[in-house]
Amino acid sequence: MAVSIEAQAQLRRVIAEVPNYPKPGILFKDITPLLGSSPEFALAVVGMITPWRDAGITHVVGVESRGFIFGAPVALGLGAGFVPVRKPGKLPRTVLREAYALDYGTDSLEMHSDALHAGHRVLIVDDVLATGGTAFAASRLVQNAGAVVAGYTFLIELPALGARKLFNGARIESLLTY
Ligand code: AMP
Repeated sequence: MAVSIEAQAQLRRVIAEVPNYPKPGILFKDITPLLGSSPEFALAVVGMITPWRDAGITHVVGVESRGFIFGAPVALGLGAGFVPVRKPGKLPRTVLREAYALDYGTDSLEMHSDALHAGHRVLIVDDVLATGGTAFAASRLVQNAGAVVAGYTFLIELPALGARKLFNGARIESLLTY
């Protein structure tokens, strides 16, 4: 873990749990109180950066939309570029596209086809690792562009959903597990 037990407790205090949102059976992790509290927002971003400081990351991929909030400061902290992966129809130029499953629905993700190429080492960032479908689709976009996925960094991981088996032993760092 990249942050102490005390820091984990501090972060948990500003993550609200909302039952049955956005649909029955989902316990939604609401990070907006964390974002609104500068000490914990900073603690989260630094914690997501720390394990990757010496990993030679050239680019951070953030998944729309909460992956943008964490991905952009993580990229700046690592001296890496930031690449947005977006919902369909949002990017103005030629895109690569991948379908994926959420634990509450299905969708597709797009990335500009010229955003990454061979020689780039990419860190994929999002707020929550649930089923892993979103991050796995992002990893396919990165690989289809010819770049390498160095690993993944999340604020929250829900290990009961078993996402790690999708990623074949890839390096995944999460600050909190629920
Ligand atoms: P998944 O593809 O199942 O790993 O889902 C990850 C995406 O869905 C992330 O972008 C999360 O923001 C969102 N998500 C999934 N489950 C939850 C949850 N229980 N609480 C908050 N966000 C979630």
